Amino acid sequence: MTINPKTVMLIAEDHDFQRRTLVRILHGLGIVDILEAANGREALEVIRSAPKPPEVVLSDLDMPEMDGMAFIRHLGEAKQGMDIIIISALDPVLLGSVAKMADAYGVHLLGIIEKPVTRARLMQLLAGHHAAGHAPEPVRPVPPAFGWQEIRAGIANREFEPFFQPKIEMASGRVIGAEALARWRHPVHGVVAPYAFILEMERHKDIDALTFLMLEKAAHACRDWIAAGFDTTVSVNLSLISLADISLAGRITACVKSAGLEPKRMVLEITETAAMTELAPALENLTRLRMHGFGLSIDDYGTGFASLQQLARVPFTELKIDQGFVTGCAQSRAAYVIVEASIALARGLGLKTVAEGIETEEDWDTLKAAGCDVAQGYFIARPHEEDAFLEFCRKRAGSA
Ligand code: C2E
Ligand code: MG
Ligand code: MG
Repeated sequence: MTINPKTVMLIAEDHDFQRRTLVRILHGLGIVDILEAANGREALEVIRSAPKPPEVVLSDLDMPEMDGMAFIRHLGEAKQGMDIIIISALDPVLLGSVAKMADAYGVHLLGIIEKPVTRARLMQLLAGHHAAGHAPEPVRPVPPAFGWQEIRAGIANREFEPFFQPKIEMASGRVIGAEALARWRHPVHGVVAPYAFILEMERHKDIDALTFLMLEKAAHACRDWIAAGFDTTVSVNLSLISLADISLAGRITACVKSAGLEPKRMVLEITETAAMTELAPALENLTRLRMHGFGLSIDDYGTGFASLQQLARVPFTELKIDQGFVTGCAQSRAAYVIVEASIALARGLGLKTVAEGIETEEDWDTLKAAGCDVAQGYFIARPHEEDAFLEFCRKRAGSA
C-alpha cells in the first residue's frame, strides 16, 4: 500500500533528535506536510492555527508541560476525528491501558510503536489510516433519543422482546442456555438495542414493566425449547432499581411459574455494582429468589465494586467475567491475569464461570485452557430471534 503524500501529519515529541528522525522517515515515505510540536500543549496550538488540520498525529507519551495522555483527552473532547499513533518506550502493559483510555475518550488509535521507530512499522500503521478512508468518523454512534412517552407506548404495545444469545459449555461444546437481551421492535426505527431505552426507563424508575415482559417471554421461549427436546436454561437481566422493592422475588416467581417454567431453569443476572449494594432489601430479594430455585449470576464481573466479603454474602451460582477482560485476553497479559484470577475465585466459591465477549478462536482456546466453564460471544453466535435460536440448537446438535 502506498502512502498518500498529501496527508498532513503532526509529530508531538519533546526530544529534538527523535523528532528529526521521525520527520526524516516520513519524508522518506513521500510525506511533505509535517507539523511539529514539543509537547501536547504546543501540539494543540499547532492544530488550531494550521491552515489544514493534520489527519494523523504521532505522539510521544512522556512529554513535559502536557503529556500524551492529557493531549489524547483534549483531542477526544474536541472531537477532532483525527487518527493517532502513539510512540513510546513505556512498558507494554502501560501501553495497553493507554489504548483503552484513548478508546474511552473516543480517539481513534491506529496503533502503538515501541521505540525505536522503524519505517516498516510506521508504514504498516499508516496503511490503517488509508484503508479507513479520510473522512473523519463520528466518535460513537449516537442512539436515537427516545422520549419517555414513546417508550411507554412501546411497552403498552408489547413491542419489546428478547433476543437470545447462546451459552456453550466449553468442555462439551453443548448449548446449555441462552441470555435474553432486550430489543425494541420499533415500528419506524426497526430493531433497537437496549442502550437506547434502558437508561431512560431506569431514570423514571419504571424498568419493571420491561423486566416482566422479558421474564414472561423468556420463560415461554425456554419452555418451548425444553418441549422440543433441548435441556436448556434461560438468563434474564435484572436492574438494581427493581431489587429495592421487597415484593420483587415473589412477583418474579409467580410470573415465571405462570409462564410454565420451573425457576431452576432460569438464571437472573445482576450487574456487579447492583449486586454489591448495601441495601438490605436487595439481599432479601436475592436470597429469596435463590431459595425459590433461580440461579443468580454476577454480571460484568471485574468492572464494579465487589469486595470479597460481599461476593460471599450473596448466594450467587455463576460469575460472568466482563467482556472487557475476555475480548482479546489471548493477546493481553493484564487481561489474562484478571481472567485467570476470576476463574480461581469463582471455583473457590463454588460458582460456575461464564466468559462473555469471546470474539475469536484464540480467545476461546485461551479461556478453555484457563478452565472457564461456559462461553458466550460473537465467535459462537450473535443474539438471535427466538425461532433462530431453536434453529441454532438443532444445527449444533446435528453437528455434534
Ligand atoms: P450484558 O447483560 O452484559 O449483555 C451482554 C452484551 O454484550 C449484549 O449487548 C450482547 O449483545 C453483547 N455481546 C455478546 N457477545 C459479544 C461479543 O462477542 N462482543 C461484543 N462486543 N459484545 C458482545 P446488548 O444486547 O446490547 O445489551 C447491553 C446491556 O443492556 C446488557 O449487558 C444488559 O446490561 C442490558 N440489558 C439487556 N437486556 C436487558 C433487560 O431486559 N433488562 C435489563 N435491566 N438490562 C438489560
Ligand atoms: Mg447480562
Ligand atoms: Mg455482561
